[in-house]
Amino acid sequence: MRKSAPRPKRKDTTVPPRARHSDTSLIHQEPSSQWPRVPDVVPAAWLDRLLAAAVDLPLASGERAVVTAVVEAIAAILPGYAVGACFVPVGAATPRDQVLVRRLPEGIRESAAGVDPTRLFPALAHEHVSPLPGSTTGSTLHVASEVDPLDHERSPTVHLVDRAALVLSRALAVARDLASPARAVRDDRVLQERLMQADKLATFGQIAAGVVHELNNPLTSIVAYSDYLIRKALAQGAQTAGGAPRDEGDVERLKRISESANRMLRFTRDLVSYARPSNGVAGPVVLHGVIDQAVAFCEHVLATAGVSVEKHYGADVLTVRGVSEQLVQVFVNLMTNASQAAPTKGGQVMVTTSVDASSRRVRVVVEDNGSGIAREHLSQVFVPFFTTKGDRHGTGLGLSIVKSILEAHEGDIHAESEAGCGARFVLELPVWSR
Ligand code: ADP
Repeated sequence: MRKSAPRPKRKDTTVPPRARHSDTSLIHQEPSSQWPRVPDVVPAAWLDRLLAAAVDLPLASGERAVVTAVVEAIAAILPGYAVGACFVPVGAATPRDQVLVRRLPEGIRESAAGVDPTRLFPALAHEHVSPLPGSTTGSTLHVASEVDPLDHERSPTVHLVDRAALVLSRALAVARDLASPARAVRDDRVLQERLMQADKLATFGQIAAGVVHELNNPLTSIVAYSDYLIRKALAQGAQTAGGAPRDEGDVERLKRISESANRMLRFTRDLVSYARPSNGVAGPVVLHGVIDQAVAFCEHVLATAGVSVEKHYGADVLTVRGVSEQLVQVFVNLMTNASQAAPTKGGQVMVTTSVDASSRRVRVVVEDNGSGIAREHLSQVFVPFFTTKGDRHGTGLGLSIVKSILEAHEGDIHAESEAGCGARFVLELPVWSR
């Protein structure tokens, strides 16, 4: 489309968009240099309303709905002006397929049409055209007035419309992406993959439970007997002159048998928890009691790793709703991980509890001063079988069990950390109410 109105000059801007937007793809990802400089006289309320309107754009409803919403938003901000848009929807590449969306101010009737075919509002004396940045089909946003000369250099109205053009171009890109067949196929495939994964996990859970049942007894015997033989060899050695067992090599071998069997036991236990978290009836649970119990269970692990536990219990923390033994397992897993990540000396775990009275949720922070979690792993640590501990030491199931238990309790957990600076796990659970 040929345009008679002057093309606005782009200037560098120093004014970043305001931080009120929840869909950052529309506002914040634009390099700030693309924003036209806003004259001081542009009312802040206009920009706020433009951003608020951008948050509610009907992106999933298609291009025309998005354009109409933007035109309506500008018309609401500038009630005395005519506002319009001209765009070419996807799949309609000829100028004849352009879609025009127009909005005249209250009380103004077009008296003369067709004076200038390139204008959306030929009856009005002045019209400014903002091309949509990045549009390859010449889409434009228009504002027109009988009295305002719409001089680009000084007009706050023009600056607002230029900004709206940028918002609109981004919104159109999102709307097109949402509507594209490639996207639909992609979403469909993702859904299929998730369903298959869920299905596999369910089947896997049933198999795991059976396998674990078969393995548990022989493994427990291996652990018990190898420990017995180690103790016996050490005791016999203690009675000899040098104090060393007669065959140190055999004792070392027995220790390896015991360690390996223990590792298999741990793995089978994790598998069962993953497949079938213990089902108990949810009731009021004293959270501090649960944490104390978990620390007691982990006493040996913590002591071996030289880790001390500091508790900061909030005085106002109420009982939570849950299954006590599952919640104990949550903290056992977190303590075990903290012990494994602890520095060789001076390892510490700090557990802090508090309650948010307004949301009626208890918050527990479990933080340590260990090796921390690399930034790129933060999003993966709750994924089943993700481990950085290698096959020999990690099952990668601990945190996914923790997460599924918390989700079953209508709670939540997330991790915060930087490699080398310790890890922090933040849990939330609903307060018990009858
Ligand atoms: P596993 O401990 O068997 O590897 P988890 O699911 O418990 O499985 O943990 C997954 C991964 O998360 C670990 O391998 C480790 O990389 C990381 N992780 C968990 N807790 C901590 C922690 N306290 N400090 C550092 N890394 C941790």
